[in-house]
Amino acid sequence: MQKTQIFQKSSALSDRFGRRIDYLRISITDRCNLRCIYCMPPEGIELFEKNQILTFEEMERFSRIAVNLGVRKIKLTGGEPLVRKGIMRFIASLKEIDGLDDLSLTTNGIFLEDLADDLKASGLNRVNVSLDSLDNKRYGEMTRGGDLSRVLRGINKALEVGFIVKINTVVLDGLIEREILKLIEFGKERNIEVRFIEFMPLCGNGWKRNYFIPLVDTKKKIGQRYKLTPLGNNGVADRYGIDGGGIIGFITPVSEPFCSHCSRLRLIARGTLRPCLFSSLEINIFPLLRNQASHEEIEKFIQKAVYMKPEWNPVLRGVEDPKKVFIRNIGG
Ligand code: SAM
Ligand code: SF4
Repeated sequence: MQKTQIFQKSSALSDRFGRRIDYLRISITDRCNLRCIYCMPPEGIELFEKNQILTFEEMERFSRIAVNLGVRKIKLTGGEPLVRKGIMRFIASLKEIDGLDDLSLTTNGIFLEDLADDLKASGLNRVNVSLDSLDNKRYGEMTRGGDLSRVLRGINKALEVGFIVKINTVVLDGLIEREILKLIEFGKERNIEVRFIEFMPLCGNGWKRNYFIPLVDTKKKIGQRYKLTPLGNNGVADRYGIDGGGIIGFITPVSEPFCSHCSRLRLIARGTLRPCLFSSLEINIFPLLRNQASHEEIEKFIQKAVYMKPEWNPVLRGVEDPKKVFIRNIGG
């Protein structure tokens, strides 16, 4: 009884710590066509049956209710979102939701060349492409078989059809650092923001402590080459203009967690709600969506998930076992 009252009080999706939750990330599939060394084991992961995965109609209904409660931005992720059939109609249906200001997608870019036109026509606003190397061989090693030329053609096509594109690069010590300057130049030439992300110590993703490098070190090295002009922090990325044009950002979930600004809630394809990327805590909303539960019941579950958001990164606080937290099907 007491708990219900608390959930009802936290209306308009503010959590217990006063953070406004207005950003929903939907992992629309657990399937992926790559096996990036920092994300997936080489053999892939155990996949859910099709009927254990939310339909796009169920995800759309969930999204409508979440937007009605205060969500303003949705990002589609995965696995690899572009491998799921029917995504264009799904995007178009989300685009119709009144009150949704921003709809974006993060992709490994392999299918982007083929799909960029349709994605644009469906109403998607922005695209983030994961790209860790501009060297064919290294890219192939990092992704365990990805074809760099396809990703590059995908990026060009996305720009051509008018998307704002950002690049996400996970920085692994000794493996990626030498790529950084090349990626910055690549971004400058195309007017693409390049965001460097710290390697996160989560389950089954090949976590090796010696791969981790705090981005403050990376920033110092970049600073020796470019003049960096601070552009502020947009809640996730610490952004800088670089001389000669171009923007880079640093996303530091491990060395400088941005928990105090966290505005995120995650819906996973198998129908669970994840209040925090660094916690195994989840709420199963699948039966409610599958059985067409009332709007009010679903709202209550969303509020419950928001209520359960931890104040601070549970893995870094030592109260969560990183071996129990997966990233690959949560979508980052
Ligand atoms: N397949 C899509 C892609 O690669 O963009 C979407 C899913 S992927 C899990 C989303 C983001 O999480 C990507 O930018 C990826 O680089 C990032 N990511 C995956 N594993 C990570 C890790 N261990 N540490 C930091 N970022 C990670
Ligand atoms: Fe697939 Fe994206 Fe993970 Fe790479 S980072 S294995 S592309 S889900």
